[in-house]
Amino acid sequence: MNRKYDVIVLGAGPAGLTAGIYLSRARQKVLLVDSGTAGGQMVMSYTVANYPGVETTSGWNISQTMLRQAKSFGCNVLTQSPVLGIDLSDELKSVEVEDEGTFYADAVIVATGGVPRELGMQSEQQYKGIGISYCATCDGDFFTDKEIVAIGGGNSALEEAVGLTKFASKVTIVHEFDHFQAQPWIVEEARKNDKIHFLMAQDIVDFAGDEHLEKVIVASKTTGAKTEIPAAGCFIFIGYVPNTGMFKNILDTNEHGEILTDHHMHTNLSGVFAAGDLREKRYRQITTSVADGTIAALSAIDFLQQKKTTD
Ligand SMILES: Cc1cc2nc3c(=O)[nH]c(=O)nc-3n(C[C@H](O)[C@H](O)[C@H](O)COP(=O)(O)OP(=O)(O)OC[C@H]3O[C@@H](n4cnc5c(N)ncnc54)[C@H](O)[C@@H]3O)c2cc1C
Repeated sequence: MNRKYDVIVLGAGPAGLTAGIYLSRARQKVLLVDSGTAGGQMVMSYTVANYPGVETTSGWNISQTMLRQAKSFGCNVLTQSPVLGIDLSDELKSVEVEDEGTFYADAVIVATGGVPRELGMQSEQQYKGIGISYCATCDGDFFTDKEIVAIGGGNSALEEAVGLTKFASKVTIVHEFDHFQAQPWIVEEARKNDKIHFLMAQDIVDFAGDEHLEKVIVASKTTGAKTEIPAAGCFIFIGYVPNTGMFKNILDTNEHGEILTDHHMHTNLSGVFAAGDLREKRYRQITTSVADGTIAALSAIDFLQQKKTTD
């Protein structure tokens, strides 16, 4: 296997796959490495209905189409291959991949995405995708005229809960504290919304149902009294964890570990670009990751061209 590439892309979610498509089509020698299957979080999405140009399909289908497209232009792809270590400090970057050894490149695009923070309960795993969701934009429409629960008390939790009232007949916001951390304007907006109900200072005890989620069971933190909330859906908005541990103290991040870039996806290191959900940004969607991947690839091509003229 070749050891030296023009660009190595870390992560084959929509950001990484898009970068792979653009780079290989521009005749760059590219290696795309992913610790799992190609597609990233898209694979978790049973139905994707908001990717322009593609009518409702599964996340798996979009992932496989993007992968075929990248390979058709000559992109080299390694899946089930976790990246164990990186050295991005020199002009020639190195990437160590489990069982495959070390690869080298003039530029690196990091696109290792992230995962929504989970409650960590067994029943949460059971109903994931069949009632439990972490993405209102993606799945809100599936709960039209249904009663749902939204868990969380930060800005995005309340904003998403308000957004969900466009679909659901009732949204019960369940929060662990007796007050919200969200800003007053969005708390007020939620309070004014007739469809929103509040259950404060509650622990999530369990999720239950037959084939799909049917209820969320909570318990009061003060009295311990249990409440069963009928719910066809439950949205968990308790934060997001970027997969950026590997880049700690190497790339600049914010306090949440999200990588800081400029508008052209440059990081603080020359020849290193970041794209997708692992960046500091507000909206995390397939389309926004695809856009980031495009920009990162074009910036990397510019970087390589400039490097050639100065070498
Ligand atoms: C359940 C669910 C449903 C969703 N539904 C929709 C929807 O309908 N519409 C929509 O637009 N968005 C949806 N989203 C959001 C969307 O999937 C994400 O915004 C998008 O996938 C982010 O793309 P990304 O390429 O930045 O990162 P990711 O998709 O997170 O991909 C990152 C990739 O990096 C890999 N990786 C991580 N660490 C390493 C490592 N050390 N070495 C190698 N590889 C590594 C991972 O395996 C992964 O494949 C959904 C998300 C979830 C969780």
